[in-house]
Amino acid sequence: MAVSGSQVTAVVGANWGDEGKGKLIDYFAEHSDYVVRFQGGGNAGHTVINDYGKFALHLVPCGAFYPHTTNVLGPGVAVNMEGLLKEIRELTDRGVPNANVVISDRAQVVLPYHVQFDELEEGRRGKEKFGSTQSGIAPFYADKYLKIGVRVADLFGEGLLPRLRNALTQKNTLLTHLYDADDHRWEAESVAEELRGFGDRIRDMTADTTQLLHDAIDDGKRIMLEGQLGALKDPDHGIYPYSTSSSTLAGFATVGAGVPARTIDRIVASVKAYSSCVGAGPFVSELAGSEAEELRNRGGAEGEFGATTGRPRRVGWFDAVATRYGCRVQGATEVALTLLDVLGYLDEIPVCVAYRIDGETTDQFPVTDRLERAEPVLETMPGWKTDISDARNFEELPSAAQDYVRMIERQCRVRVSWISVGPHRDQTIRMSA
Ligand code: GDP
Repeated sequence: MAVSGSQVTAVVGANWGDEGKGKLIDYFAEHSDYVVRFQGGGNAGHTVINDYGKFALHLVPCGAFYPHTTNVLGPGVAVNMEGLLKEIRELTDRGVPNANVVISDRAQVVLPYHVQFDELEEGRRGKEKFGSTQSGIAPFYADKYLKIGVRVADLFGEGLLPRLRNALTQKNTLLTHLYDADDHRWEAESVAEELRGFGDRIRDMTADTTQLLHDAIDDGKRIMLEGQLGALKDPDHGIYPYSTSSSTLAGFATVGAGVPARTIDRIVASVKAYSSCVGAGPFVSELAGSEAEELRNRGGAEGEFGATTGRPRRVGWFDAVATRYGCRVQGATEVALTLLDVLGYLDEIPVCVAYRIDGETTDQFPVTDRLERAEPVLETMPGWKTDISDARNFEELPSAAQDYVRMIERQCRVRVSWISVGPHRDQTIRMSA
Protein backbone atom coordinates (compact mmCIF):
# COMPACT_ATOMS: atom_id res chain seq x y z
CA MET A 1 0.00 0.00 0.00
CA ALA A 2 1.33 3.43 -0.94
CA VAL A 3 0.26 5.57 2.01
CA SER A 4 -0.36 2.74 4.39
CA GLY A 5 -2.16 2.97 7.69
CA SER A 6 -3.61 6.38 6.93
CA GLN A 7 -7.24 7.28 6.61
CA VAL A 8 -6.92 10.91 5.55
CA THR A 9 -3.68 12.00 3.89
CA ALA A 10 -2.94 15.48 2.60
CA VAL A 11 -0.46 15.79 -0.27
CA VAL A 12 0.74 19.37 -0.42
CA GLY A 13 3.62 21.45 -1.77
CA ALA A 14 6.53 22.63 0.39
CA ASN A 15 7.76 25.09 -2.24
CA TRP A 16 6.19 27.48 -4.77
CA GLY A 17 4.13 24.81 -6.55
CA ASP A 18 5.02 22.50 -9.45
CA GLU A 19 6.73 20.08 -7.04
CA GLY A 20 5.25 17.06 -8.82
CA LYS A 21 2.19 16.63 -6.57
CA GLY A 22 0.13 15.41 -9.55
CA LYS A 23 2.52 12.57 -10.22
CA LEU A 24 2.56 11.58 -6.55
CA ILE A 25 -1.21 11.71 -6.15
CA ASP A 26 -1.72 9.61 -9.28
CA TYR A 27 0.66 7.08 -7.69
CA PHE A 28 -0.89 7.18 -4.21
CA ALA A 29 -4.50 7.20 -5.45
CA GLU A 30 -4.36 3.52 -6.25
CA HIS A 31 -5.05 3.07 -2.55
CA SER A 32 -7.53 5.93 -2.10
CA ASP A 33 -11.30 5.85 -2.25
CA TYR A 34 -11.60 9.63 -2.56
CA VAL A 35 -9.27 12.31 -3.89
CA VAL A 36 -10.37 15.80 -2.91
CA ARG A 37 -9.29 19.20 -4.21
CA PHE A 38 -9.70 21.75 -1.43
CA GLN A 39 -8.55 25.12 -2.80
CA GLY A 40 -7.63 27.05 -5.93
CA GLY A 41 -9.10 26.63 -9.36
CA GLY A 42 -7.91 25.86 -12.86
CA ASN A 43 -5.08 28.38 -12.55
CA ALA A 44 -2.34 25.77 -12.17
CA GLY A 45 -1.84 22.35 -13.62
CA HIS A 46 -0.83 18.98 -12.31
CA THR A 47 0.98 16.83 -14.83
CA VAL A 48 0.23 13.14 -14.72
CA ILE A 49 1.91 10.52 -16.90
CA ASN A 50 0.54 6.98 -16.76
CA ASP A 51 -0.61 4.21 -19.07
CA TYR A 52 -3.34 6.46 -20.53
CA GLY A 53 -0.76 9.03 -21.65
CA LYS A 54 0.31 12.46 -20.46
CA PHE A 55 -2.29 14.79 -18.96
CA ALA A 56 -2.33 18.29 -17.50
CA LEU A 57 -5.13 18.32 -14.95
CA HIS A 58 -6.29 21.75 -13.82
CA LEU A 59 -9.45 21.09 -11.83
CA VAL A 60 -10.12 17.37 -12.01
CA PRO A 61 -8.39 15.67 -9.05
CA CYS A 62 -5.50 13.35 -9.91
CA GLY A 63 -7.39 10.21 -8.80
CA ALA A 64 -9.33 10.40 -12.07
CA PHE A 65 -7.47 7.48 -13.64
CA TYR A 66 -8.72 4.82 -11.23
CA PRO A 67 -12.31 3.60 -11.64
CA HIS A 68 -12.60 2.94 -7.89
CA THR A 69 -11.79 6.54 -6.93
CA THR A 70 -14.33 9.33 -6.43
CA ASN A 71 -12.85 12.72 -7.28
CA VAL A 72 -14.31 15.55 -5.26
CA LEU A 73 -14.17 19.31 -5.75
CA GLY A 74 -14.67 20.55 -2.20
CA PRO A 75 -16.33 23.78 -1.00
CA GLY A 76 -12.99 25.66 -1.06
CA VAL A 77 -12.43 25.21 -4.80
CA ALA A 78 -12.96 27.87 -7.48
CA VAL A 79 -15.00 26.01 -10.08
CA ASN A 80 -14.62 27.19 -13.66
CA MET A 81 -17.44 25.18 -15.15
CA GLU A 82 -16.46 25.51 -18.78
CA GLY A 83 -12.90 24.46 -17.98
CA LEU A 84 -14.06 21.56 -15.84
CA LEU A 85 -16.45 20.19 -18.46
CA LYS A 86 -13.77 20.49 -21.13
CA GLU A 87 -11.27 18.65 -18.96
CA ILE A 88 -13.67 15.81 -18.22
CA ARG A 89 -14.52 15.52 -21.92
CA GLU A 90 -10.83 15.35 -22.83
CA LEU A 91 -10.26 12.55 -20.33
CA THR A 92 -13.14 10.55 -21.81
CA ASP A 93 -11.96 11.23 -25.38
CA ARG A 94 -8.53 9.90 -24.46
CA GLY A 95 -9.86 6.64 -23.10
CA VAL A 96 -10.04 7.27 -19.34
CA PRO A 97 -13.09 5.18 -18.41
CA ASN A 98 -14.70 7.32 -15.72
CA ALA A 99 -13.23 10.38 -14.04
CA ASN A 100 -16.07 10.13 -11.50
CA VAL A 101 -16.11 13.80 -10.49
CA VAL A 102 -18.40 15.07 -7.72
CA ILE A 103 -18.74 18.83 -7.15
CA SER A 104 -19.68 20.29 -3.78
CA ASP A 105 -22.93 22.26 -3.88
CA ARG A 106 -21.15 24.67 -1.52
CA ALA A 107 -18.26 25.30 -3.91
CA GLN A 108 -18.37 28.62 -5.72
CA VAL A 109 -18.29 29.33 -9.41
CA VAL A 110 -15.71 31.38 -11.31
CA LEU A 111 -17.83 33.93 -13.19
CA PRO A 112 -17.03 35.40 -16.60
CA TYR A 113 -16.37 38.79 -15.08
CA HIS A 114 -13.79 37.35 -12.66
CA VAL A 115 -11.57 36.48 -15.60
CA GLN A 116 -12.16 39.91 -17.12
CA PHE A 117 -11.31 41.71 -13.87
CA ASP A 118 -8.15 39.64 -13.43
CA GLU A 119 -6.95 40.77 -16.87
CA LEU A 120 -8.00 44.40 -16.41
CA GLU A 121 -6.39 44.66 -12.99
CA GLU A 122 -3.07 43.19 -14.14
CA GLY A 123 -3.20 45.67 -17.04
CA ARG A 124 -3.91 48.56 -14.67
CA ARG A 125 -0.98 47.59 -12.44
CA GLY A 126 1.36 47.59 -15.43
CA LYS A 127 4.95 47.08 -14.27
CA GLU A 128 3.70 46.23 -10.77
CA LYS A 129 1.60 43.30 -11.91
CA PHE A 130 1.60 40.08 -9.88
CA GLY A 131 2.12 37.72 -12.79
CA SER A 132 -1.40 36.31 -12.43
CA THR A 133 -2.43 33.48 -14.73
CA GLN A 134 -5.47 35.68 -15.37
CA SER A 135 -7.92 32.87 -14.75
CA GLY A 136 -10.04 35.01 -12.43
CA ILE A 137 -8.85 33.47 -9.17
CA ALA A 138 -8.05 36.64 -7.18
CA PRO A 139 -11.36 38.39 -8.12
CA PHE A 140 -13.18 35.11 -7.42
CA TYR A 141 -11.86 34.80 -3.85
CA ALA A 142 -12.28 38.54 -3.25
CA ASP A 143 -15.97 38.22 -4.16
CA LYS A 144 -16.33 35.07 -2.08
CA TYR A 145 -15.18 36.86 1.05
CA LEU A 146 -17.15 39.99 0.10
CA LYS A 147 -20.11 37.59 0.12
CA ILE A 148 -21.15 38.41 -3.43
CA GLY A 149 -20.03 35.09 -4.93
CA VAL A 150 -22.25 32.46 -6.55
CA ARG A 151 -22.40 28.95 -5.13
CA VAL A 152 -22.97 25.88 -7.25
CA ALA A 153 -26.29 25.42 -5.42
CA ASP A 154 -27.34 28.93 -6.51
CA LEU A 155 -27.40 27.80 -10.14
CA PHE A 156 -30.51 25.80 -9.39
CA GLY A 157 -32.48 28.36 -7.38
CA GLU A 158 -34.46 31.59 -7.75
CA GLY A 159 -31.85 33.65 -5.93
CA LEU A 160 -29.32 33.66 -8.78
CA LEU A 161 -30.61 36.70 -10.68
CA PRO A 162 -30.92 39.07 -7.70
CA ARG A 163 -27.47 37.98 -6.51
CA LEU A 164 -25.94 38.73 -9.88
CA ARG A 165 -27.78 42.08 -10.16
CA ASN A 166 -26.36 43.11 -6.84
CA ALA A 167 -22.80 42.06 -7.66
CA LEU A 168 -22.94 43.64 -11.10
CA THR A 169 -23.93 47.04 -9.73
CA GLN A 170 -20.46 47.13 -8.21
CA LYS A 171 -18.66 45.50 -11.17
CA ASN A 172 -20.23 47.72 -13.80
CA THR A 173 -19.37 50.84 -11.81
CA LEU A 174 -15.73 49.73 -11.71
CA LEU A 175 -15.77 48.93 -15.42
CA THR A 176 -16.97 52.43 -16.24
CA HIS A 177 -15.06 54.49 -13.74
CA LEU A 178 -11.87 52.56 -12.92
CA TYR A 179 -11.10 50.60 -16.06
CA ASP A 180 -12.64 52.89 -18.68
CA ALA A 181 -14.34 49.86 -20.20
CA ASP A 182 -17.94 51.03 -20.57
CA ASP A 183 -18.54 48.78 -23.56
CA HIS A 184 -17.70 45.68 -21.45
CA ARG A 185 -20.49 46.10 -18.89
CA TRP A 186 -22.42 42.97 -17.93
CA GLU A 187 -26.17 42.21 -17.97
CA ALA A 188 -27.31 40.09 -15.04
CA GLU A 189 -29.93 38.29 -17.18
CA SER A 190 -27.47 37.02 -19.78
CA VAL A 191 -24.89 35.95 -17.16
CA ALA A 192 -27.67 34.10 -15.28
CA GLU A 193 -28.79 32.35 -18.45
CA GLU A 194 -25.27 31.18 -19.24
CA LEU A 195 -24.77 29.95 -15.66
CA ARG A 196 -28.07 28.06 -15.66
CA GLY A 197 -26.97 26.36 -18.89
CA PHE A 198 -23.80 25.15 -17.15
CA GLY A 199 -25.87 24.24 -14.09
CA ASP A 200 -27.99 21.88 -16.20
CA ARG A 201 -24.82 20.17 -17.40
CA ILE A 202 -23.26 19.67 -13.96
CA ARG A 203 -26.46 18.93 -12.00
CA ASP A 204 -25.84 15.17 -11.91
CA MET A 205 -22.28 15.69 -10.67
CA THR A 206 -23.33 17.95 -7.80
CA ALA A 207 -23.73 16.72 -4.23
CA ASP A 208 -23.37 17.61 -0.59
CA THR A 209 -19.76 16.44 -0.55
CA THR A 210 -19.30 17.36 3.11
CA GLN A 211 -21.90 14.75 4.02
CA LEU A 212 -20.37 12.35 1.49
CA LEU A 213 -16.89 12.63 3.04
CA HIS A 214 -18.10 12.50 6.64
CA ASP A 215 -19.97 9.28 5.81
CA ALA A 216 -16.89 7.96 4.02
CA ILE A 217 -14.78 8.58 7.11
CA ASP A 218 -17.33 6.78 9.28
CA ASP A 219 -17.17 3.86 6.84
CA GLY A 220 -13.38 3.67 7.11
CA LYS A 221 -12.74 4.83 3.53
CA ARG A 222 -9.37 6.33 2.57
CA ILE A 223 -9.25 9.95 1.52
CA MET A 224 -6.49 11.94 -0.13
CA LEU A 225 -6.55 15.73 0.00
CA GLU A 226 -4.88 17.25 -3.04
CA GLY A 227 -3.08 20.57 -2.64
CA GLN A 228 -2.57 23.04 -5.44
CA LEU A 229 0.55 25.26 -5.62
CA GLY A 230 2.76 25.24 -2.51
CA ALA A 231 3.34 26.64 0.98
CA LEU A 232 5.27 29.68 -0.25
CA LYS A 233 2.25 30.79 -2.28
CA ASP A 234 -0.02 30.72 0.76
CA PRO A 235 -1.65 34.14 1.30
CA ASP A 236 -0.87 34.17 5.06
CA HIS A 237 2.44 32.33 5.24
CA GLY A 238 3.89 32.73 1.76
CA ILE A 239 5.40 35.56 -0.29
CA TYR A 240 2.38 37.87 -0.04
CA PRO A 241 1.35 39.70 -2.22
CA TYR A 242 2.98 37.42 -4.80
CA SER A 243 0.96 34.59 -3.32
CA THR A 244 -2.18 32.93 -4.55
CA SER A 245 -5.62 33.80 -3.18
CA SER A 246 -6.54 30.69 -1.20
CA SER A 247 -4.62 28.80 1.44
CA THR A 248 -2.34 26.11 0.08
CA LEU A 249 -1.71 24.57 3.50
CA ALA A 250 -2.75 21.18 4.83
CA GLY A 251 -4.30 23.02 7.76
CA PHE A 252 -6.79 24.57 5.37
CA ALA A 253 -7.48 21.26 3.64
CA THR A 254 -9.86 20.34 6.40
CA VAL A 255 -11.88 23.53 5.73
CA GLY A 256 -11.72 23.53 1.96
CA ALA A 257 -12.50 19.83 1.64
CA GLY A 258 -14.98 19.63 4.50
CA VAL A 259 -13.43 16.95 6.70
CA PRO A 260 -12.90 17.17 10.48
CA ALA A 261 -9.43 18.54 11.35
CA ARG A 262 -8.66 15.63 13.66
CA THR A 263 -9.00 13.13 10.80
CA ILE A 264 -5.90 14.19 8.83
CA ASP A 265 -3.30 11.72 10.01
CA ARG A 266 -0.58 12.11 7.38
CA ILE A 267 0.74 15.19 5.65
CA VAL A 268 3.06 14.43 2.77
CA ALA A 269 5.01 17.51 1.68
CA SER A 270 6.21 17.36 -1.87
CA VAL A 271 9.74 18.80 -1.96
CA LYS A 272 11.43 19.55 -5.25
CA ALA A 273 15.13 18.67 -5.58
CA TYR A 274 15.74 22.14 -7.01
CA SER A 275 13.57 25.28 -7.06
CA SER A 276 11.07 26.63 -9.55
CA CYS A 277 8.56 29.44 -9.32
CA VAL A 278 5.89 30.89 -11.57
CA GLY A 279 4.91 34.53 -11.36
CA ALA A 280 6.56 37.58 -9.81
CA GLY A 281 8.11 37.97 -6.34
CA PRO A 282 11.36 37.32 -4.48
CA PHE A 283 13.17 34.07 -5.32
CA VAL A 284 16.48 34.00 -3.48
CA SER A 285 18.21 31.03 -5.12
CA GLU A 286 17.09 31.99 -8.65
CA LEU A 287 19.44 31.34 -11.56
CA ALA A 288 19.91 33.48 -14.64
CA GLY A 289 21.47 33.05 -18.06
CA SER A 290 22.74 29.75 -19.42
CA GLU A 291 22.68 27.97 -16.02
CA ALA A 292 18.96 28.76 -15.72
CA GLU A 293 18.28 27.77 -19.28
CA GLU A 294 19.97 24.42 -18.87
CA LEU A 295 18.08 23.57 -15.65
CA ARG A 296 14.79 24.84 -17.15
CA ASN A 297 15.21 22.70 -20.26
CA ARG A 298 16.19 19.60 -18.29
CA GLY A 299 13.56 20.05 -15.55
CA GLY A 300 10.11 18.51 -15.26
CA ALA A 301 8.92 15.99 -17.80
CA GLU A 302 9.69 18.20 -20.80
CA GLY A 303 11.27 21.30 -19.34
CA GLU A 304 10.00 23.75 -16.74
CA PHE A 305 7.14 25.40 -18.57
CA GLY A 306 3.74 26.07 -16.96
CA ALA A 307 1.17 23.28 -17.44
CA THR A 308 -1.63 25.87 -17.70
CA THR A 309 0.06 28.84 -19.34
CA GLY A 310 3.13 27.39 -21.09
CA ARG A 311 5.13 30.21 -19.44
CA PRO A 312 8.81 29.45 -18.75
CA ARG A 313 9.19 28.85 -15.01
CA ARG A 314 11.87 30.68 -13.04
CA VAL A 315 14.37 28.13 -11.73
CA GLY A 316 17.04 27.97 -9.04
CA TRP A 317 18.98 25.73 -6.70
CA PHE A 318 17.36 23.91 -3.79
CA ASP A 319 16.57 26.46 -1.10
CA ALA A 320 16.87 24.83 2.33
CA VAL A 321 15.65 27.94 4.18
CA ALA A 322 12.43 28.22 2.16
CA THR A 323 11.80 24.47 2.04
CA ARG A 324 12.30 23.88 5.78
CA TYR A 325 9.86 26.72 6.42
CA GLY A 326 7.48 25.25 3.79
CA CYS A 327 7.56 21.83 5.48
CA ARG A 328 7.03 23.44 8.85
CA VAL A 329 3.98 25.52 7.90
CA GLN A 330 2.54 22.50 6.13
CA GLY A 331 3.03 20.46 9.29
CA ALA A 332 4.67 17.78 7.17
CA THR A 333 4.79 14.31 8.70
CA GLU A 334 6.94 13.15 5.80
CA VAL A 335 8.55 14.35 2.62
CA ALA A 336 8.26 13.06 -0.92
CA LEU A 337 11.38 14.28 -2.70
CA THR A 338 10.66 14.82 -6.39
CA LEU A 339 12.59 15.43 -9.61
CA LEU A 340 15.85 14.13 -8.18
CA ASP A 341 16.75 12.63 -11.58
CA VAL A 342 16.88 16.12 -13.13
CA LEU A 343 20.11 17.00 -11.28
CA GLY A 344 22.03 14.09 -12.81
CA TYR A 345 23.85 16.35 -15.30
CA LEU A 346 25.79 18.40 -12.74
CA ASP A 347 29.39 17.89 -11.54
CA GLU A 348 28.58 19.80 -8.39
CA ILE A 349 25.20 20.83 -7.04
CA PRO A 350 24.89 24.18 -5.26
CA VAL A 351 22.38 24.33 -2.40
CA CYS A 352 21.16 27.49 -0.68
CA VAL A 353 21.69 26.86 3.06
CA ALA A 354 21.15 30.36 4.46
CA TYR A 355 20.30 33.94 3.47
CA ARG A 356 22.42 37.09 3.85
CA ILE A 357 20.12 40.00 4.65
CA ASP A 358 21.50 43.46 5.45
CA GLY A 359 24.88 41.98 6.32
CA GLU A 360 23.50 39.25 8.59
CA THR A 361 23.22 35.54 7.97
CA THR A 362 19.97 33.79 8.81
CA ASP A 363 18.39 30.39 8.29
CA GLN A 364 14.87 31.73 9.01
CA PHE A 365 12.45 32.54 6.20
CA PRO A 366 11.56 36.25 6.52
CA VAL A 367 8.63 38.43 5.40
CA THR A 368 8.54 39.51 1.78
CA ASP A 369 10.33 42.85 1.92
CA ARG A 370 13.28 41.37 3.82
CA LEU A 371 13.23 38.42 1.45
CA GLU A 372 13.60 40.83 -1.45
CA ARG A 373 16.95 41.93 -0.01
CA ALA A 374 18.19 38.39 0.71
CA GLU A 375 21.16 36.86 -1.05
CA PRO A 376 21.77 33.12 -1.09
CA VAL A 377 24.56 31.50 0.93
CA LEU A 378 25.50 28.52 -1.20
CA GLU A 379 27.26 25.27 -0.39
CA THR A 380 28.05 22.64 -2.99
CA MET A 381 27.39 18.93 -2.93
CA PRO A 382 29.09 16.47 -5.28
CA GLY A 383 26.94 15.50 -8.27
CA TRP A 384 26.36 11.90 -9.39
CA LYS A 385 26.51 12.42 -13.15
CA THR A 386 24.33 9.39 -13.87
CA ASP A 387 20.82 8.70 -15.06
CA ILE A 388 18.95 7.50 -11.96
CA SER A 389 15.51 7.26 -13.54
CA ASP A 390 15.55 3.45 -13.48
CA ALA A 391 16.36 3.19 -9.77
CA ARG A 392 13.55 1.62 -7.78
CA ASN A 393 15.12 1.42 -4.35
CA PHE A 394 17.39 3.67 -2.34
CA GLU A 395 20.37 1.31 -2.48
CA GLU A 396 20.40 1.54 -6.29
CA LEU A 397 21.08 5.29 -6.12
CA PRO A 398 24.71 6.42 -6.43
CA SER A 399 26.15 7.40 -3.07
CA ALA A 400 26.25 11.11 -4.02
CA ALA A 401 22.49 10.99 -4.74
CA GLN A 402 21.92 9.19 -1.42
CA ASP A 403 23.90 11.97 0.30
CA TYR A 404 21.75 14.59 -1.40
CA VAL A 405 18.59 12.88 -0.10
CA ARG A 406 20.05 12.73 3.42
CA MET A 407 20.99 16.43 3.17
CA ILE A 408 17.36 17.28 2.27
CA GLU A 409 16.13 15.21 5.20
CA ARG A 410 18.53 16.99 7.58
CA GLN A 411 17.67 20.43 6.25
CA CYS A 412 13.89 19.88 6.28
CA ARG A 413 13.99 18.01 9.60
CA VAL A 414 11.38 15.66 8.18
CA ARG A 415 11.81 12.07 7.05
CA VAL A 416 11.97 11.45 3.28
CA SER A 417 9.55 8.59 2.62
CA TRP A 418 9.43 8.65 -1.20
CA ILE A 419 11.82 9.70 -3.92
CA SER A 420 10.55 10.44 -7.39
CA VAL A 421 13.10 9.78 -10.14
CA GLY A 422 10.93 10.45 -13.19
CA PRO A 423 7.52 11.76 -14.20
CA HIS A 424 5.94 8.34 -14.75
CA ARG A 425 3.85 6.74 -12.01
CA ASP A 426 6.30 3.82 -11.68
CA GLN A 427 9.40 5.99 -11.29
CA THR A 428 9.06 6.13 -7.54
CA ILE A 429 11.23 4.83 -4.72
CA ARG A 430 9.55 4.00 -1.44
CA MET A 431 11.96 4.30 1.47
CA SER A 432 11.81 1.52 4.00
CA ALA A 433 10.49 2.59 7.39
P1 GDP B 1 2.36 19.84 -9.55
O1 GDP B 1 1.54 21.04 -9.88
O2 GDP B 1 2.95 19.88 -8.20
O3 GDP B 1 1.61 18.57 -9.82
O4 GDP B 1 3.61 19.83 -10.55
P2 GDP B 1 3.56 20.02 -12.14
O5 GDP B 1 2.89 18.90 -12.77
O6 GDP B 1 3.08 21.39 -12.47
O7 GDP B 1 5.12 20.05 -12.48
C1 GDP B 1 5.93 18.98 -12.25
C2 GDP B 1 6.58 18.58 -13.58
O8 GDP B 1 7.57 17.62 -13.31
C3 GDP B 1 5.64 17.89 -14.55
O9 GDP B 1 6.10 18.09 -15.84
C4 GDP B 1 5.79 16.41 -14.16
O10 GDP B 1 5.49 15.51 -15.23
C5 GDP B 1 7.24 16.35 -13.85
N1 GDP B 1 7.67 15.40 -12.83
C6 GDP B 1 7.06 15.04 -11.67
N2 GDP B 1 7.88 14.25 -10.95
C7 GDP B 1 9.03 14.13 -11.66
C8 GDP B 1 10.27 13.48 -11.43
O11 GDP B 1 10.50 12.87 -10.39
N3 GDP B 1 11.22 13.61 -12.40
C9 GDP B 1 11.02 14.30 -13.55
N4 GDP B 1 12.00 14.39 -14.43
N5 GDP B 1 9.86 14.93 -13.79
C10 GDP B 1 8.89 14.86 -12.86
